[in-house]
Parts: sequence; C-alpha cells; structure tokens
Amino acid sequence: MSAVRDVAIVGAGLTGSVLALALATAPGADFDLELLDAAPAHLPPDDIRAYAIAAGTRRLLHALGVWPLVAGSAQAAAGMDISDTRLAEAVRPIIASFESEARDGEPFVHFVDGRDLQGAVAQRLEETGVPVVHGWRLTGLHQEAAALRLAAREDDRLARLAVGADGGRSAMRRAARIGNVGWAYGQASIVTIIEHEVPHDGRAVQHFLPGGPLALLPLPGNRSGIVWSTPRDEADRLMAVSAERFAAALAEAAGPERGMIEVVEPPRAYPLELGLARAFVKPRLALIGDAAHRVHPLAGQGFNMGLRDVAALAETVIEAARRGEDIGALTTLERYQRWRRFDTVQLAAITDALNRLFAPDWAPLRAIRDLGLGLIDRAPRLKQTFIKEAAGEVGKVPRLLRGEAV
Ligand SMILES: Cc1cc2nc3c(=O)[nH]c(=O)nc-3n(C[C@H](O)[C@H](O)[C@H](O)COP(=O)(O)OP(=O)(O)OC[C@H]3O[C@@H](n4cnc5c(N)ncnc54)[C@H](O)[C@@H]3O)c2cc1C
Repeated sequence: MSAVRDVAIVGAGLTGSVLALALATAPGADFDLELLDAAPAHLPPDDIRAYAIAAGTRRLLHALGVWPLVAGSAQAAAGMDISDTRLAEAVRPIIASFESEARDGEPFVHFVDGRDLQGAVAQRLEETGVPVVHGWRLTGLHQEAAALRLAAREDDRLARLAVGADGGRSAMRRAARIGNVGWAYGQASIVTIIEHEVPHDGRAVQHFLPGGPLALLPLPGNRSGIVWSTPRDEADRLMAVSAERFAAALAEAAGPERGMIEVVEPPRAYPLELGLARAFVKPRLALIGDAAHRVHPLAGQGFNMGLRDVAALAETVIEAARRGEDIGALTTLERYQRWRRFDTVQLAAITDALNRLFAPDWAPLRAIRDLGLGLIDRAPRLKQTFIKEAAGEVGKVPRLLRGEAV
C-alpha cells in the first residue's frame, strides 16, 4: 500500500483533471496529489461534443494555462436564437435572441470541440507533472484514523482528502453511501458534428421541437456541433438507420437556415438523467462534476457547473492548507458544500423546468411559452440576468472564475 497522500482524485475526466491542475499549480500550496482513473492509459481524445464554455469557465481555464492551448480552435459566440416549432413548419420564427456580452465586451460563451479540450488538459497535466494512474478502478472506501483508504483490485491508496470526480455512475458516491435524487428523462441526446453551406456567423440556434431541443453550436469554419435530444426509442431508431437516412432526418430537424448539411462525425447517443447527490461531502471526501450532479444538456451547463465546483473546492482547500487546517475535516469541506449547493439545485431545477415546459406539443401551452419568451426577449434587464447566470457571474464568485490565482 502507498503512503498517505494529501489529495487523491478519483476520475481523470475533464473535471477531475482540471481540479488536479488547480491544486498542483496553486502558489506555495505544494500538495502531494495523484489522479486515478479506471480507463486504460493513452486513449486519444474522442469526445466529439461541442462544449459551451461560459465566460467564468474560460477565465478559470486561462488561469490554469489551458485556454491558450484551445483559444485558436474556439468559436466565440455572437449570440443565440431560439425557435419553438413543429418539424413540418417551413419557416421557424425566432421567438427570443440573446446577444453575446458578459463583462468588458467579452463573449458570454465560446464553443470548443471536446477533443481539443481533452488534448489541452492532457498537455497541461504532463507539463505540470501531476502523477496520473490509469487502469485503477475504485471498489470501496474505508475510514482510517487520519486518512481515507481507497480500495481497488490494484493497489489501495490512502489520502487525507479523496475527491470523487468519477462521473454520473460515481463509485465514490455509492461507496460513501451518499444517496442520489433524480430520474431518467426517457430522452437521449444524439451528438455529432456537421459541415454546412451557409455560415453561422458565430450564432448558436436552439430549436425546441416536439420531441426535445435540437442545438446547432457554432465551431470554427462552416461547422457546427449538434446536440439533438429526442425520446429514447426515437434516438435508438435514429442510431440504427443508415448514414444517409440519419443525415436526411437531421437535415429536416435542423431546418433550412444553414443550407445543405453534411454529417462529418459518426453520431453518438447519451441517455439523459437528472441527478443530485444528497450531500457533496463527508469526512475526508468531496464530490465534484457529474458525480455530484447531472443536468439536462439543453442549457450547456454540466461541465460549467463542474468547473464551478473545482473553483470553489480548490479555493476552500488551498486556504485551509495555508491556515494549517486539516484539508479533509468535515468543517473545512462543508464550506465547499455551502458554496455550491444552492447554485447546483437552482440550475438543475431551471433546466428540468425548461425541458418540461417545451417538450409537450400542445397548442395552448405553445402559445403561452412563446408569449413568455417573447416578453423576456423585450426585457433587456431580465435577459442580462439570464446571461450572467449562464456565465457564472452571480453570487460569491470564486477567485479562479474571476481569472485570479488562488
Ligand atoms: C449530450 C451532452 C452534451 C453536453 N454539452 C455540454 C456543454 O455544452 N457544456 C457543458 O458545460 N456541459 C455539457 N455537457 C455535460 C458535460 O459533458 C459533463 O457534465 C462533463 O463531461 C462531466 O465531466 P466529469 O469529469 O464530471 O465526468 P466524466 O467525463 O464522466 O469522467 C469520469 C471519469 O471517471 C472515471 N471513472 C469512472 N468510474 C471510476 C472508478 N470506479 N474508478 C476510477 N475511475 C473511474 C472514468 O473513466 C472517467 O474518466 C453535456 C452532456 C451531454 C450528455
């Protein structure tokens, strides 16, 4: 068995990896930490999702040296247009538009190909020398006197603080006996990348269709990332048809605005769930990212929420270490939980409500929601509030999200 580390992060997905960078590069903190992941080593980046990166997330990634590596392949958003239409309607009227400005003229969102993000984070991990152990799968947790023992078929690990960043099915959450509140949406999101004839001019589009929302997220050049949420059985059917039939169905759903489209990445389907851990902390343990919360992707907030966890947990732990406090003590970790709990529950509720509001294809409801969005569209202050919420600019903002060192 290995020696007691300060921090062991279980899960080297984007959230766990960025937390490792934040702790490893904190001036003067000098944590003995390692990143553990079940996946085999050296898998090439393969996440074809187009990530909506909010302004606060971008500042955090910049402070950790990740953003300069992806900036050249990021697409700044000029704005977002929303339509609420049936598939058959020839013209899709825009019922609300959001223009892109958060602070100091900075775009409120950039869109980045997930593979570029994964590549940049992996490069920074290598540059900063964070030890990453692959092929290590957590199987259980045992409380020791002043450490948590992380059991695995391979080598057990001991840590004063163990962080669960191991995704929606989190083994850390289950081993710690932390309950999970949530439900399956009965929907899946089909993700792919398209090339199109008509330039997007940096504008994202979200069509609220009867089966679920379809987003076209602008990437550099005439390319867009697709997130197409449909009922599960419809997603299964679309994933089983030929490439030509899939392309034709997507072209019909995406509407005529982008002209001819070509599907350039094989589509993948992600089942959708709402999930909230009943607690984010226990003695010597904290949950972050999808291990703590999963939300509907219609607002592109899941990873952004995970990085808000990273910023709040890193600041809590670094400050505790500087004051000579025990970084794994429940009193320390409860500060992180208090910081993140309200924002998380609020965003989970908003995304859930939006999905429920827009899914039914019932004419009177359609009229009411279109009237509601029309009113928001004509209320600049309310729109500004939504944009600030999406950019992570409300409440007490952790220093990394302001682009400052901790
Ligand atoms: C269709 C779709 C579109 C999305 N679009 C956006 C968007 O535009 N913007 C946005 O902010 N968010 C978006 N999200 C959400 C975002 O993708 C997730 O919130 C984010 O990827 C979660 O990252 P994570 O690191 O927490 O978890 P994961 O990416 O799931 O990583 C978990 C890691 O833990 C490892 N692991 C699992 N079990 C174990 C174990 N027992 N032991 C050791 N290691 C283990 C896994 O190998 C993996 O590497 C989207 C989600 C979906 C489904």
